Amino acid sequence: MRTSWSIGRLFGIDIRIDSSWIIIFAFVTWMLAGYYFPSQYANWPLWQYLLIGATTSLLFFASVLLHELAHSLVALKQGEEVRSITLFILGGVAEIADEPRKPSREFYMAFVGPLSSLAIALVFLALWYWLRNISQPLGALCRYLALINFILGIFNLIPGFPMDGGRILRAAIWKITGNLRKATRVASITGQAIAFLMIFFGIWQILRGFFFNGMWIALIGWFIHSAATRGYQQVLMKDMLKDLRAKDLMNPDFETVSSDLSVQELVEDYVLKRRERAFLVSDAGELRGIVCLEDIKTVAPDRRSSTKVKDIMTPREKLEITSPEDNGNEVLSKLSRRNIHQLPVIEEGKVQGILCRADVLRFLHLRSELGV
Ligand SMILES: [Zn+2]
Repeated sequence: MRTSWSIGRLFGIDIRIDSSWIIIFAFVTWMLAGYYFPSQYANWPLWQYLLIGATTSLLFFASVLLHELAHSLVALKQGEEVRSITLFILGGVAEIADEPRKPSREFYMAFVGPLSSLAIALVFLALWYWLRNISQPLGALCRYLALINFILGIFNLIPGFPMDGGRILRAAIWKITGNLRKATRVASITGQAIAFLMIFFGIWQILRGFFFNGMWIALIGWFIHSAATRGYQQVLMKDMLKDLRAKDLMNPDFETVSSDLSVQELVEDYVLKRRERAFLVSDAGELRGIVCLEDIKTVAPDRRSSTKVKDIMTPREKLEITSPEDNGNEVLSKLSRRNIHQLPVIEEGKVQGILCRADVLRFLHLRSELGV
């Protein structure tokens, strides 16, 4: 599982750093201090390359954070819930609870991202103009940040979903056709087409002998391609799940086991016979917890007859639960947020059924195969 750390809160949004960010921060610093600045300014002392390199790298990621913050503030203003912004190896990502409900909202939300990057570029350009004859290192720092933020702004305007430019395109098509799914499809296909062009161009550059340039372009193309495909699938999935309730997805015909059962009996009499991955644990009709295959695997085979279900189950108070009226998207986000496989469906303290991640996925698969 991914590790990330919270570094503070801004406007009620949790600002986080993913462990993979350390790698990219170190890489950018190394690239700036070891190659970029030395190639432009030959006679700085080593400590100055390192200091300016690290500061530039930090300010670059602060710019990425501002870009995401711009998206988030517009989302907040539109009444959406923004949970967190995380910096990771490929930049930044804001976790916004819902897709926008109107084309105009999507347009503003997407547009402020590249706009803020271009605005930051202008600020650093002005600072560079002011500082260039006062301090060479500070001038160099501002010049680089102006350039990189300009590139970031333009790059994000590429009209392929789910990048900002793709979202702007999607909002436009959505506005014209009134069909969000169709708009997403067109914007995703555009994204994939641009990605393929970049990959081919990258390969062509490699064949011409420009290995590193070509590699970068092909890699970015590959990244855009996978993001476009994933983004479209996510929209399809959310679209399919939004009209469903937990009660439509759950299995009402579930089996419960007693907490005093031994793990050995659980394996022989339940898991192998019923071929289920998880069982609710209940004593005299009262829910005590849930036990699943992952819990069983933590017990060595020779200790299974001496270990009881209550020793390995996830107890009731630690259990994530859902109500029969919760909609499909809430259910899926509960399953994925805690990375769990089952949810008991509970109404007024009584268990109505059990909902497995596999059932949700099977349901989605069936629906998309039948084109419903
Ligand atoms: Zn953006």
